[in-house]
Amino acid sequence: MAVSRLAEMTWEEARDRFAGSRAVAILPVGAIEAHGPHLPLATDVIIAEAMARSGAEKLAARGYEVLILPTLSYTAARFASEFPGTISLEPSTVAVMLTEIASGLAAHGLRTLVIANSHLDPSHLSALDAAAAAIREQGLLELIFPDITRKPWAPRLGDEFMSGACHAGRYESSVVMAARPELVRDEIRRALDSNPASLSEAIRAGKRDFEEAGGPRAYFGHPAEASAGEGSRTIEILGSILEEAVLNAATG
Ligand SMILES: [Zn+2]
Repeated sequence: MAVSRLAEMTWEEARDRFAGSRAVAILPVGAIEAHGPHLPLATDVIIAEAMARSGAEKLAARGYEVLILPTLSYTAARFASEFPGTISLEPSTVAVMLTEIASGLAAHGLRTLVIANSHLDPSHLSALDAAAAAIREQGLLELIFPDITRKPWAPRLGDEFMSGACHAGRYESSVVMAARPELVRDEIRRALDSNPASLSEAIRAGKRDFEEAGGPRAYFGHPAEASAGEGSRTIEILGSILEEAVLNAATG
């Protein structure tokens, strides 16, 4: 089966694809948010799209009809909201948007929606959880949302990711170096000191933004240790996470 992009299809093509019982739609979800002095504001958009592409190819190879939806690029990003260029929406707005996207797909016969999320701000994750609850409550369609910050997925994404110093560090920088190398300010990246401050610990301690969490330049972890090779491997892992989440749901 081939991978299609909803935004590039005609309505008649969409009608025919939606009708298939093995049709799944993948929604990449990112953010427009500060990612250190070396990565673009769309870093999470780039990661989510790479994850969606990789997962879509794996599912298509298993006979699924896969539709990649236009990316949801605006969301809640409270930890970065003071940094210029960051656009942070209210979590309730995001939850409504996601629920209405699911409703629109369901109205036209699509039965499975998979979320490829790469943005880890707690205000955003709570919006996704709220949307997931509303979508399930309303019985709109089957929602598959592998939360990469939780088990069993998180340990696959490396030590830095697990440490919680996982914003614009080695993990995210590597993926952007693999997917969109021309957007990485590489001279700056290579000169950045490590910042091992853990965002997950900061969140538990009640910190509310990157500055309070110990990241005055909006990065954590070890960006200088990133590489395109690691980024390509990480994209494969992210794609496998989507693939496995769909297969797990199918076997119940
Ligand atoms: Zn990010």
